[in-house]
Amino acid sequence: METIFSSVDVLIVGAGPTGLTLACDLARRNIKHRIIDKNTFYNVASRSKAIQPRSLEVVDDLEAIDYILDTGVVDLPVRYYTANDKSIDKPSITVSASSNLETPYRNPVWIAQFDVEKALRDRYALLGGQVELGIEAVKLVQDLNGVTVTVKTLQAEEQIHARYVVGADGGKSNIRKFIQLPLVGETYDDERWYLGDIQLEGLDRDRIHIWTSSEGMLGLTPLPKSNIWQLQATISAEIQNPAEPSLELYQTMLDQQAGTGRVKLTHASWLSIYRINVRMVECYHSHSVFLAGDAAHVHSPAGGQGMNTGIQDAYNLGWKLAAVLQGADTTLLHTYDEERRPIAQAVLEDSSKKIKSITATVTASESLSQSLSTISDDLTSGLPISYRSSSLTRSFTGENAPLLLPGDRAPNADMLQSKEFFGSIFDLLRGTHWTVLAFVNHTDPSVFENLSHDQVRLYCILPSDTERTDQIIDKAGNAYRIYNILNEELLFIRPDGYIALRTSIEESTSILQYLNFIYGSS
Ligand SMILES: Cc1cc2nc3c(=O)[nH]c(=O)nc-3n(C[C@H](O)[C@H](O)[C@H](O)COP(=O)(O)OP(=O)(O)OC[C@H]3O[C@@H](n4cnc5c(N)ncnc54)[C@H](O)[C@@H]3O)c2cc1C
Repeated sequence: METIFSSVDVLIVGAGPTGLTLACDLARRNIKHRIIDKNTFYNVASRSKAIQPRSLEVVDDLEAIDYILDTGVVDLPVRYYTANDKSIDKPSITVSASSNLETPYRNPVWIAQFDVEKALRDRYALLGGQVELGIEAVKLVQDLNGVTVTVKTLQAEEQIHARYVVGADGGKSNIRKFIQLPLVGETYDDERWYLGDIQLEGLDRDRIHIWTSSEGMLGLTPLPKSNIWQLQATISAEIQNPAEPSLELYQTMLDQQAGTGRVKLTHASWLSIYRINVRMVECYHSHSVFLAGDAAHVHSPAGGQGMNTGIQDAYNLGWKLAAVLQGADTTLLHTYDEERRPIAQAVLEDSSKKIKSITATVTASESLSQSLSTISDDLTSGLPISYRSSSLTRSFTGENAPLLLPGDRAPNADMLQSKEFFGSIFDLLRGTHWTVLAFVNHTDPSVFENLSHDQVRLYCILPSDTERTDQIIDKAGNAYRIYNILNEELLFIRPDGYIALRTSIEESTSILQYLNFIYGSS
């Protein structure tokens, strides 16, 4: 077999939602990279059914949101059927995030994972990228200059030398095994589920349908803008060796739960058995190899966090890899593990608690509806995630600490207006840059000329009662209120939308010092 040799700055292994998010971010930053996937075709399994508010903000920033909003639905009520053939209608399991989290996307969107992947792939194509299918990473060796990954296709072997490798290759990650980082945790041997993407006749597609009985639960969720339903059914702990999943088996289970002939299953595009693992790595990187998404952490689907945590891992890593490849100190990359691992730890704990309450109630509709009604909350929205204790965060040193502190996510505020602009804080943040939001009243914006830097955009935001028309005015007072601005102040926002520091205008040099800390003083 012929061996080809090549090199690239970043090699992404795995084109699921995590790898695709990173590929979009690197492509828009003009970083030389490749993304490979061992599959010869794109994923057709629905798996995740909901994208959370913080991930919606991420895909908005990556300009991949339109297809997701056009395809998904927000409101998906549930009909629970009881053993005596009665039914109870309940509202959607997902709930809006609290209004004080200030986002354009308070509601999770119900959408199949393959559609989220399509949205990211389409955006990636617009950025000039293309996933390389049918290429499997089979070996990895690190040296002082980077990493050599051996990949195989049906016809050839290639040795790709990369400065950095990102293993976004899912729960069974080979990249994780190559760098010898075990997934530490436990497997819930008794908690197994049958899963499938099914077509059927006999049900309205305007809601989720869930049957419960002493055997457990069976749920059918309509996947928006398709004729596919995701089937999920518990497997009783008493069954030692569950039968292989098949359309016939699922029909039999459904007949037992719903009554023979009530719903007819006609086709399956994905069949699987899922065993719950609650595990994560003890470090997200080894030298120049990074892990992201399911490669770094796996947990129960309760709360709908897996795909979302992966998307947000990639978004945290993307700008850091780009910065280091553009000259920043490599220690910046250590903050990826520092910031993201505690988030995964919290997700593991929360989703384990939630799956326990679900599995304890799967035999009775009323109690199951009760436990499912508590799985969506502010935590699962991802919006309150904060990096306050990160080494990238500069503590607030002024008097009267505001509610919104360095490390917190920069919230949105709308109704900003200037001669050329009408929009929101998120419109100002969208893109690859760092942002200075200068909340000024009397100070002439020209005093901030010293902050000019090719990675930074500065916007002066004036209060609503100002006379000036040459700057952005906070027409409705939303930005001043949401950012707790009492005096003239500067907020320095990271490329991934978190507040790095907030300081008085007299201390504007602290922003320069911060930039020097990241990029060096060039
Ligand atoms: C039933 C179910 C329900 C779920 N519900 C939710 C939910 O509601 N919300 C949520 O956020 N998450 C949910 N998840 C979890 C979600 O599906 C995963 O967390 C998500 O797929 C992880 O994305 P990833 O990109 O990290 O990995 P994956 O999607 O697994 O992608 C990894 C990719 O790497 C490729 N690959 C693997 N090895 C190699 C190799 N050696 N070389 C090249 N390529 C390779 C694979 O082919 C694959 O395409 C659910 C999962 C299941 C099973």
